[in-house]
Amino acid sequence: MNAYLGHFRQFLGNSDRPAWLVSLDGALTCLNPAMETALGIPSVCALGRSCRDFLDAADAARLSDAFERLKRKTENSVRIEGLTLGLRTVDCTISTIQDKGQPIAFLAQMHAGKAAHVPVRHAGGEAARAAHERLRSIADNAPAGIFVFRPTPDGSGEFAYTSAKFDDLVGRPKQREDEVRKATFALIHPDDRPEFLASVTASARSLTHWHHRFRVQHPDRGTRWVSGAATPKLDEDGSVSFTGVIYDVTKDVEREAALATAHKLAEKMRQENERLALYDGLTGLPNRRYYDKVVATRRHEARTGHGPKGCVLIRIDLDHFKYVNDTLGHEAGDKVLCRVGEVLHDSIRDGDFASRIGGDEFSVILGGGSTEDDAMAIVERIQASLAEPLLYDGRHCRFGASFGIAKTDNMLELGADLQLFADAALFRAKARGRNRMEFFTPELRQSILNDRRLAAEIQDGLENDEFLPYFQPQMCAHKERLVGVETLLRWRHPTRGLLAPDSFMHVAEQLRVVPEIDRIMMEKARRSLDRWRASGLVVPKISFNVSSGRMHEPDVVSGALAIANGATKVTFELLESILVEEESDAFRFHLEMIREAGIDIEIDDFGSGHASIIGLTEISPSALKIDQRLVFPVVQDVRARNLVCAIVEIAETLGINTIAEGVETKDHANILRALGCDVLQGYLFSEPLSENDLLRFATGLERRTA
Ligand code: C2E
Ligand code: CA
Ligand code: CA
Repeated sequence: MNAYLGHFRQFLGNSDRPAWLVSLDGALTCLNPAMETALGIPSVCALGRSCRDFLDAADAARLSDAFERLKRKTENSVRIEGLTLGLRTVDCTISTIQDKGQPIAFLAQMHAGKAAHVPVRHAGGEAARAAHERLRSIADNAPAGIFVFRPTPDGSGEFAYTSAKFDDLVGRPKQREDEVRKATFALIHPDDRPEFLASVTASARSLTHWHHRFRVQHPDRGTRWVSGAATPKLDEDGSVSFTGVIYDVTKDVEREAALATAHKLAEKMRQENERLALYDGLTGLPNRRYYDKVVATRRHEARTGHGPKGCVLIRIDLDHFKYVNDTLGHEAGDKVLCRVGEVLHDSIRDGDFASRIGGDEFSVILGGGSTEDDAMAIVERIQASLAEPLLYDGRHCRFGASFGIAKTDNMLELGADLQLFADAALFRAKARGRNRMEFFTPELRQSILNDRRLAAEIQDGLENDEFLPYFQPQMCAHKERLVGVETLLRWRHPTRGLLAPDSFMHVAEQLRVVPEIDRIMMEKARRSLDRWRASGLVVPKISFNVSSGRMHEPDVVSGALAIANGATKVTFELLESILVEEESDAFRFHLEMIREAGIDIEIDDFGSGHASIIGLTEISPSALKIDQRLVFPVVQDVRARNLVCAIVEIAETLGINTIAEGVETKDHANILRALGCDVLQGYLFSEPLSENDLLRFATGLERRTA
């Protein structure tokens, strides 16, 4: 390397003008940092290559021409104007570097040209031109519009470059390649303009990525939504330029809007459905769901202190509604329900909430601060209205309702129990003859709590095998002779001792475990019979109290047959009330099979219900058991005596026996014997006995009568 050239290099390195050192054959031997920046290539990539590679064909020719002239030494320096170099157009002065009078290299120094920001044309030979064309074609055909934008101090800005697609998207005339165009923002929707400008300013100031969505008013296509994104860059002169893209997102925005509308519609429909789902279609009253919501709200308000703590609830159940439905038809039933709906609606006050809970059940939640007297007044209004007969199909249709009223001072403490309590009061109203109202009392509350505990204990009792049969002797009315035993259920309660059915049967019925208990009774009684027989006692007859539930079970017949071997006759006691109510096929079918199997039927508590004589002959029982309530008064009461006498006559007509239960005194026994009863049962002879006591009783009896 020539020392002289080395000196030159150093000089160039410090110059802020882009400069080249070119060998006599046109190869680049040095380019200073300013030139690297101008070309956008590091010197290592450029050194050794022909400087023509970095120019377009015309400029390369001009340069070669200049070199030739300088070599011929006709001139010492040549100036070329308008040379395209990288992103700029520059003027260039080329001079020869001579050593001892001989040119050894060319120095090309650039001067800033006229247009400092014409980034469109790339210098650099055919290959570069082709690449540039490719890029431009991509830019113009891409779905996004590409731009280079510089905000100007006057608050506006200029576009140094926009792709054809950009111009198309915003609807401006095509920008020429070498044109710098003032941005007016006139095409941006006036409503979006302030925010748009603010976003550009903010991004330029903070040099953070710009992203914005706005509307443009396209001269041909009307309002379009455009989404833009750009990266700001701080230029050498301290100005900021954005290079970025814009897309037409009108379709997306429309889709979003359509989606939002659909959502809104769906929400509206959901609310409408919800509303429909909260009302009863027939009566128009709020339904059970709505009722539940109101209860939940009242509880919530009580908890948060936003509403009254207390609450009064009325439960309403129509009396004999099934009868209306069955005899007059469902249309009449519907009419009755609608009428009740109207009456409730008219009888409540503002703030009260009436609803149809289901079937013929209604309830009214009284407004906050109401008392039991308010409830009573409402019920009386309802009763008065319901008392007016409803005309249906030309007939007067009368119906009543029963009411249960419960009140709590603390909704939170009671919650769901309030409904239970009102139901208990309603149940009592029904039990006390219907068409009346009952209030929930502390005593009712206690019995509900007891029943709850009892239910759990019964389940435990079944698991722990605490249920067992006791046996009450049945005596011949004429001779002191055991003719049979009635099995009676006992519960060996772990803490309360031996319990009789009256204290727990109602709960067992609710639990639906009575059929299971009946099965246990038969099974255990069978084993007692076996043991008695082993001890020499043969009981002539054993009878079981059979619930209607048990009568429906398929194994009821086989269970009874298992007992009926040997000399002991098996009898089922069926309540007179069962015979009146029970009309199901399964019941009749099993009854038939039971009779065919040789098991006798006795009608229990006869005289208390309403069994028809025809019904009786159909069942053809072997005996009528006269209800204790008729037996007790026979000593003092002539009418009771007459009734018992009539029953005995019926039995004699049917050719069957009579059994009197509840025989407590000798007077009872004498009168019943005189009236013609065949068998007597009661405390006079014995209470119900355990298996062993019954054995002792029977053997003692045999010894006495032997
Ligand atoms: P029930 O079938 O009418 O039974 C007669 C009830 O009168 C028995 O009450 C018996 O102990 C009682 N008793 C007997 N003699 C006298 C007397 O001289 N004076 C008085 N005051 N009472 C007398 P218990 O055992 O408490 O049974 C009550 C009811 O429970 C029975 O009435 C029956 O309906 C039902 N029951 C009893 N055991 C069973 C059973 O195993 N299954 C079913 N399903 N029900 C049963
Ligand atoms: Ca009985
Ligand atoms: Ca009885």
